[in-house]
Amino acid sequence: MNWPQAATAAEIAHNLATVRARIDGACARAGRPASQVRLLPVSKTVDVGRIRLAYAAGCRWLGENKVQEAQRKCAALADLEGLRWSVIGHLQTNKAKAVARFAAEFQALDSLRVAEALDRRLQVEGRALDVLVQVNTSGETSKYGLQPDEVAPFLRELPAFSALRVRGLMTLAVWSADSARVRACFTRLCTLRDRLRDSAPAGCSLDELSMGMSGDFEIAVEEGATVVRVGQAIFGARSTPDSLYWPSGGGA
Ligand SMILES: *Cc1c(COP(=O)(O)O)cnc(C)c1O
Repeated sequence: MNWPQAATAAEIAHNLATVRARIDGACARAGRPASQVRLLPVSKTVDVGRIRLAYAAGCRWLGENKVQEAQRKCAALADLEGLRWSVIGHLQTNKAKAVARFAAEFQALDSLRVAEALDRRLQVEGRALDVLVQVNTSGETSKYGLQPDEVAPFLRELPAFSALRVRGLMTLAVWSADSARVRACFTRLCTLRDRLRDSAPAGCSLDELSMGMSGDFEIAVEEGATVVRVGQAIFGARSTPDSLYWPSGGGA
């Protein structure tokens, strides 16, 4: 796909509007209100100068997949009022302290060790954090996330961690040009959520479904996404290979 680099606030604003219009179109096709879908711009690899342009273009939430990169940017941009950070990538327990300090949301919860480490650090900070549970819907061993059948028992453990506010589920679809296979991943997440909704413990809400990226967000919206995480379609193609961001790379 061809995503030209956005180098000015106007170009970023234009791309944001284009993506938003495509989300709204997908909502209309699916008979869903457009207000149900949040666009989370993903700024990984985007330098702080261009993030300032994104802020000028109206971005108030940014998704980052690596904690150190996010933390560095958050510190460098602390003067931008109301800018909030969502950590969307796998977390190691030794980074829980940082996330507890600066993040407004964590979308990739997939182990009790991480839940425990985050909760402990959040209690120290006197904060609570919105979290989504990451589910592996593609069956690819290279992807993080719980297996679908592990999610119900996992959710039952989470009320013990009172600083974590469970909001829903997150997934990455299979890397494939076959849209039917991509769609099947999104359908799987939505079906799982519907199945778990009634049995989820008190205080665990499963309203949010974070799914869809630059190449597949319209399919995700058609299948029920409430958050789409979009980087390249807003900021331009990344020169860094995604293998730096995912365990074993993905590939197409
Ligand atoms: C990078 C990333 C995205 C966005 O991908 P784009 O191709 O830039 O839209 C979404 N989700 C996660 C977890 C990511 O790491």
